[in-house]
Amino acid sequence: MISINDKTDCCGCFACMNICPKNCISMLPGKEGFLYPSVNMQECVDCGLCEKRCPMLDPQHRARTPICIYGCRNADSESLAAASSGGMFELLADAVLSDNGIVFGAGFDKDNNVVHKHIEKTGDIDTLRRSKYVQSAIGATYRQTGEFLKAGRKVLFVGTPCQIAGLRSFLGKDFQNLIAVDFVCHGVPSPAVWQKYLATISDNNHIKIKDINFRNKENGWISIRFCYHKEYPDGKAANVTESRYANPFVRGFLYDLYLRPSCHECKFKHFSSGSDLTLSDFWGVWTNHPEWNDDKGASCIAVNTEKGAAFLKSIDTTKYERTCLSFKQAYVDYNNYALKSASYNPKRELFFRELYDDKPLIPLIMRLTKKPFKQKIKDSISVVAHKLKLHQLMHSYRILR
Ligand SMILES: Cc1cc2nc3c(=O)[nH]c(=O)nc-3n(C[C@H](O)[C@H](O)[C@H](O)COP(=O)(O)OP(=O)(O)OC[C@H]3O[C@@H](n4cnc5c(N)ncnc54)[C@H](O)[C@@H]3O)c2cc1C
Ligand code: SF4
Ligand code: SF4
Ligand code: SF4
Repeated sequence: MISINDKTDCCGCFACMNICPKNCISMLPGKEGFLYPSVNMQECVDCGLCEKRCPMLDPQHRARTPICIYGCRNADSESLAAASSGGMFELLADAVLSDNGIVFGAGFDKDNNVVHKHIEKTGDIDTLRRSKYVQSAIGATYRQTGEFLKAGRKVLFVGTPCQIAGLRSFLGKDFQNLIAVDFVCHGVPSPAVWQKYLATISDNNHIKIKDINFRNKENGWISIRFCYHKEYPDGKAANVTESRYANPFVRGFLYDLYLRPSCHECKFKHFSSGSDLTLSDFWGVWTNHPEWNDDKGASCIAVNTEKGAAFLKSIDTTKYERTCLSFKQAYVDYNNYALKSASYNPKRELFFRELYDDKPLIPLIMRLTKKPFKQKIKDSISVVAHKLKLHQLMHSYRILR
């Protein structure tokens, strides 16, 4: 049965928990707040399925080159503004839901934990829309996906590359009615750090926190802002909006302070998750398609399988704009987290050590992400570059993600 000795060996995909015939695997938080499998030895019959279906122990798919890559964005300005990137998720979801299908993705639960769940109505798309920079808990969604697929329903499942690899391993075979979509993934922060951050801003749940958006585009797609709505016990309310470096949680994420250990040695780069389509930000837009250089957002979509190609073809092309891109334009030059893992921050261990010692979270993050003088200069240049729309220069200073 599954046993994790080295934390980098488990990406937290939940495939083992979903496959266990005796339901004797629970996903429990480790010291850093990431979930790992724990086996109830009294119930385990040593069938070995959990190890056989673990995508980290037995990766089913190899590195691939996409069949083709498009730069694209939703033609509807409201949909584009509401999305984190080019708003393509909404179009994919809409196509499946309009065909009596099901869509799985990451949303919030009532306590603002990030969890995977499914929707069946187009009116619910907003509950899954937008990036959440926290590892989502898969729960029993692979089993539910299997049941919907066997019942003949079309399913769109969106997740990180390791979640798509986990789903594929769990299912054990391809289903024609499944469209699996991942995205270029920088890595996922700890759910426990997220909850600690929420406890801080909500004054230990005295203030209600609602409508969290990690990537608000009010100030443009590139200068993303973190925002949320606060409701005080006396009935007063306020909206909070902070730039990505002013917001402590997003700042710690951007500095790789609390990513899951497996994200620093990710086994699912190079389009090797088994997904049909891969979404990402189209960071090279200002060079490769200057017509869209309006800071409203654009995505790349990599078509990895014939099934993905046929599905994309079924979407009305008047609903989105698109242009063909080379692998170099889409990933090598501007978005190499498709190909390499996030670097390890040497202050990561110190961060978690001080967090266990109950040091207050926000000053801890701000202290460990204090910018050296050279970085401050680079950032000032990037602010000026942003104002002047010199996006190529901003990219050279590596302030984009
Ligand atoms: C943790 C994380 C890291 C990312 N890193 C990069 C990167 O390095 N480079 C890059 O180009 N793009 C990255 N992205 C993807 C990018 O931000 C956009 O989500 C993607 O381009 C799709 O944009 P959209 O406008 O089409 O979709 P949106 O409408 O924004 O929909 C986003 C989709 O992602 C799903 N999702 C959101 N949060 C999570 C989560 N925590 N876990 C699993 N699924 C989730 C939602 O359910 C939805 O289906 C990352 C996304 C996340 C969540
Ligand atoms: S060996 Fe079989 S029964 Fe035991 S935990 Fe793994 S899947 Fe469950
Ligand atoms: S199946 Fe997923 S959650 Fe289970 S041990 Fe392997 S990587 Fe971890
Ligand atoms: S970086 Fe790799 S291991 Fe980490 S969440 Fe993304 S796909 Fe999973």
